[in-house]
Amino acid sequence: MSLHASLRFLTKYKVLICNVRYASQAMPQLSSEKYNVKRKDFAKVQNSDVNHFKSLLSEDRVLTEDGDVLPFNIDWIKNCRGQSKVVLKPKSTAEISAVLKYCNDRKLAVCPQGGNTGLVGGSVPVFDEVVINLMLMNKIINLDCISGSLVCEAGCILETLENHVKEHGLIMPLDLGSKGSCHIGGNVSTNAGGQRLVKYGNLHGSVLGLEAVKANGIIVDCLKTLKKDNTGYHLKHLFIGSEGTLGVVTKVAIHCPVLPKAINVAYFGVNTFDEVLQVFKRAKSSLGEIVSAFEMMDNYSIKTVIKNMNLTNPLPDYPFYVLLETHGSDIEHDTEKLTRFLSKEIDEGQVLNGIIASETAKIQAIWNLRENIPAAGLRDAGYLFTSDISLPAANYYQIVPMLRERLSSKVKSVYGFGHLGDGNIHINVALSEFNEEMLSLIENIMYEEVAKLNGSISAEHGVGFYKPKYIHYSQDDSALQVMRELKQLMDPNGILNPYKVLPETKN
Ligand code: FAD
Ligand code: ZN
Repeated sequence: MSLHASLRFLTKYKVLICNVRYASQAMPQLSSEKYNVKRKDFAKVQNSDVNHFKSLLSEDRVLTEDGDVLPFNIDWIKNCRGQSKVVLKPKSTAEISAVLKYCNDRKLAVCPQGGNTGLVGGSVPVFDEVVINLMLMNKIINLDCISGSLVCEAGCILETLENHVKEHGLIMPLDLGSKGSCHIGGNVSTNAGGQRLVKYGNLHGSVLGLEAVKANGIIVDCLKTLKKDNTGYHLKHLFIGSEGTLGVVTKVAIHCPVLPKAINVAYFGVNTFDEVLQVFKRAKSSLGEIVSAFEMMDNYSIKTVIKNMNLTNPLPDYPFYVLLETHGSDIEHDTEKLTRFLSKEIDEGQVLNGIIASETAKIQAIWNLRENIPAAGLRDAGYLFTSDISLPAANYYQIVPMLRERLSSKVKSVYGFGHLGDGNIHINVALSEFNEEMLSLIENIMYEEVAKLNGSISAEHGVGFYKPKYIHYSQDDSALQVMRELKQLMDPNGILNPYKVLPETKN
């Protein structure tokens, strides 16, 4: 019965989860042991609590069997494992409110969870926090096709929303490799970025309003659909990117741009990173408003995806590859513009060789190369350290050769890929096995360099469980103090997603 239930849960993850063979098939070590964390002084769930949860929800939406609860304790990359004994699946804001009020009064810690695709260990408990998974809060409430505002519950899967709005001539303003599993509430709570941020901006701009529940069960209604509303403080921004530490997001209103009539993708090889930057600069000036993605992959990233995901590279072996996507309104005009741009780059020797695709299947085949890099890295034996950082364009790639030099024979490989269009690079370091000392060495070298270059130690995945101790590399003490004050105000008992985001204060 338990095994059956876990399998049922796993099928929800479609391609992403089922096809990925993880670096280790073994059960991940408990996060608390692996990272040496001390449990905070929260209450422990008793039978009476479980019975109360059953009375608030219903028997079948309170999971307590070990096998049923297990998948909700393990994160996507199978690096973290919590010890929760209870998973709740509320169906309404009122249920979440009642659960949180009860947990707050009882001082039971909780872990809000969406599609569990987060990459910083924030989506799973560390100890026995009660998991509140929003998968059943998946109703689309309204779509205004004129203004493009979509209102839905937080547990809607991004791809489902994408398909829905597409039927009405609109697109979602964000697109992630995890869209088949991640929830819009998870996207909002992580301020997810993704491939198209360069054109459509981040969620602080696209989210029009939201509804959230505070730790004490009070429902905060900021579910506006207005583009302009300067009445008082913009509270929605508090919840965007707060990773479940300030409240549970229950409904989202988001602006959906018009579905572009013309989509093209160019994929090309470049000899040096400096030349990639020059091409980027000229693309912005020649293609301007139609550039919707400018993704960079180094040679090792593409080699890994081809080897591990059984994909084909349509181009020969080059040091760097770029995927440039355009979203526009005139296919002939856009294709001609992009072809002219790429031909000129090739003629002038900045681009070595390239292809352009305008048909959906061909476009997807190129995107597959880029989108499968995260999963490809996990298929190699050993341990994969992944990080996502922001750097000024001129310094974007320099951390990769720097890490290669400083770590040399201690690691198997270091490679970089990501959203050059918005200064966000993902860096993967493959190790033969998990090793805490090695991990801190990599993190310290990398984040010190990021701080020196005025970058961010987390461009899009958040701080989660992995990075609180490094947050000072990106946030000043004065800012951290205000964050602590906000946390105290919103969640005085600290029950919401403990051990995440804010570092422990030294007493
Ligand atoms: P979860 O993983 O379940 O949770 C993430 C965090 O949000 C946790 O701290 C959790 O407590 C909190 N949370 C979730 N739902 C709620 C809620 N309703 N209320 C309050 N807190 C909540 N991220 C990017 O930004 N850009 C990318 O391009 C990208 N590509 C990815 C590709 C792959 C293959 C994978 C596996 C992940 C990728 N990610 C990317 C990371 C991840 O998909 C995003 O962070 C996503 O927004 C997480 O959504 P989720 O529903 O899975 O949230
Ligand atoms: Zn990314």
